[in-house]
Amino acid sequence: MANETKVSLTILLPGGRLPLDIMETALTLAKKYNLGLYLSTLQNLRLLDIPESLLDDIKKPLADLGAEFKAPGRFPIPRVCVGRGHCKLGLIDTETLSRKILAHFAGREKTKGKLKIAIAACTMGCPGIGTSDIGIVATRNGYDIFAGGKGGTYPKISRRIRRDVNEDEVVKTLDTLIEFHDRKTTTKQRMFKLLDDPDFPFPET
Ligand code: SF4
Repeated sequence: MANETKVSLTILLPGGRLPLDIMETALTLAKKYNLGLYLSTLQNLRLLDIPESLLDDIKKPLADLGAEFKAPGRFPIPRVCVGRGHCKLGLIDTETLSRKILAHFAGREKTKGKLKIAIAACTMGCPGIGTSDIGIVATRNGYDIFAGGKGGTYPKISRRIRRDVNEDEVVKTLDTLIEFHDRKTTTKQRMFKLLDDPDFPFPET
C-alpha cells in the first residue's frame, strides 16, 4: 500500500460553480483518505494523491451526486469570468452561456485534447481570451469570437474571427471551429497551428 501508485481525479465544474453537496462529499473523502484538493487553472476541482486501488470507491459517491469527471475526448468546460451580477462590468451571465454551449456539445466524445475555450462578460477578457484556442467576449453589440491563442513558453495571441454576432451564431461558430480542429488534427493540437491553413473557415476581422 505504501508504494501504491497515486492518481488524481478531476471533477468538472461548469461555469466555475462549486455545488455544495459535491464539495461537501469531496471534503469528506479528502479527510477520510488524506487526499489533496486542488482548484485547477481551468476552474475544475482535482482530488490529488488517490491510491489507485481506491479510485472507484472515491468516484462513486461523487458520481451519485451527479459529478462529472474529466476524460479523454470530452468536450472542454469553458473557463468563464464571474459575469453579470457579480462584476460591475459584466454584460452577460457567463454561466448560462457556458451551460448552453455544454448542452449543445453534450455527448460529444471525440474532441481532441488541448482545446481551451474561454468566455468573458466584457472586453476586459479576464479568463484569458487572448491566450485561449477559442475566446468568446460579450460586447455592447453582441459577441466577438477569437481563435488561436495559447499560453506556455511561446505564447500566441488569438485573432478576432467574428464580430457582433448573436448567441446562436456563437454556438454555430464553435461547431464549425471544433469540427475543423477535429478534421485537421490527428492528436492533440492547439488551434493556432491551424490559423494559416488555407481551409481555415473564418478570416480575421
Ligand atoms: S471580463 Fe469583464 S465582466 Fe468579466 S470579470 Fe473581467 S472585468 Fe468583469
